[in-house]
Amino acid sequence: MGAWLLKPRMLSRNKMTFLLLCLIVSTLFYAFLNGHHIEADFVDQSPPNKPARVFNRAMQSFVTDHPELSKSGELNQNAEQSENGNENQSFNVVRTEEPNKETVSRLLHQVDQGSDDPNAVPFMLVTGERSSPCVTSHGSNVMMKTYKNKVDYCNLHGCKVWYALEIWQKGFVGTWVRYPLLLRLMKANPSVTWFMWMDSDAIFTDFNFSIPFERYNGWNKNMVVPGFWEKVYGENPDWIGLNAGVFLIRNCEWSHKFLEKWIEFGAPENIQTAKAALNTVLKSRPQEWDPDDQSVLVYLLNTNRKESEENVFLEASYSLHGYFEYIVDEFEDILVGKAKWPFVTHFCGCNFCGGKNTTDRCTKGFERAFNFADNQLLRLVGLRHSSLSSSSTLETVVG
Ligand code: MN
Repeated sequence: MGAWLLKPRMLSRNKMTFLLLCLIVSTLFYAFLNGHHIEADFVDQSPPNKPARVFNRAMQSFVTDHPELSKSGELNQNAEQSENGNENQSFNVVRTEEPNKETVSRLLHQVDQGSDDPNAVPFMLVTGERSSPCVTSHGSNVMMKTYKNKVDYCNLHGCKVWYALEIWQKGFVGTWVRYPLLLRLMKANPSVTWFMWMDSDAIFTDFNFSIPFERYNGWNKNMVVPGFWEKVYGENPDWIGLNAGVFLIRNCEWSHKFLEKWIEFGAPENIQTAKAALNTVLKSRPQEWDPDDQSVLVYLLNTNRKESEENVFLEASYSLHGYFEYIVDEFEDILVGKAKWPFVTHFCGCNFCGGKNTTDRCTKGFERAFNFADNQLLRLVGLRHSSLSSSSTLETVVG
């Protein structure tokens, strides 16, 4: 059903010129940034409303957790089409170092003493899953690992994890459950400035990366969402022009009001009006679908552009949400500096706990990503997994 959604569109001459320019600009940025330290890892030096149009391949995840898409079983095929269609858009390789001794001792100190990084901003990482058992035992095992991964990252970076297993507002199901949960937590924790929502099917895969909150604070942004300016504010807004599975939101009045507005679209009594509203703006989305939270976000931003641009930053300079299909084969290349370190790898569409559409690609890819991330933690105690494909055996790292 969703196959046509991801089909590369016919390219006009203007678009071809634009793509060519993207390629040239990103190549120049690559040349400039390669070898720079993490501070230089932001391709985006343009005004904060418009992220640089340098496409990150893993960010081109025109896939979501939408239940209709998960049903289709066409996910991998679609992703391949999308990948092939975008081969001429280069991606930015900006960070390559494996944790060295200095990094290891800094991270170890953080585990032991808490973060002493003056730029570190304590934030709350909110995530969750259904309270009932997963459909398969493998699904439950994956959920345990994605939770462990988040705890590990937060032990290093000073965040607190809130893992919810319940529906906090009646009538809200699926991915909609996040928003009442977030709003309530934000109001209950006024001293926590930033919140991060992260799906249970997403894991941190770069433990050395700190979220640049100081940058977002400097720009007075209240929300940071992985996405592309053109696909949200351009002529044909696309419901997959951003991803709502991982985002940052500041705990302030603007955000509370925005969440309240967003939540209204998910209320069971508003389904028909919300659907009609979405259909007036998002033409590439199947018109018969019930409103999903991600489409509503695109709609809210697009239809209130001035305020949205002031408050919401669409992040495309690093993988705040990196689509797993483009990442899980690259771990060996990453370690030798041939590919970009993915901050977050998101297994959207894999539906591990629900047991639908969990392909071999999902399960093997997840194991590799989890072990790749876990190796960064184990490195702190001189160990690593003997293979990325297996969690069970460890070996000693020399040096
Ligand atoms: Mn997800």
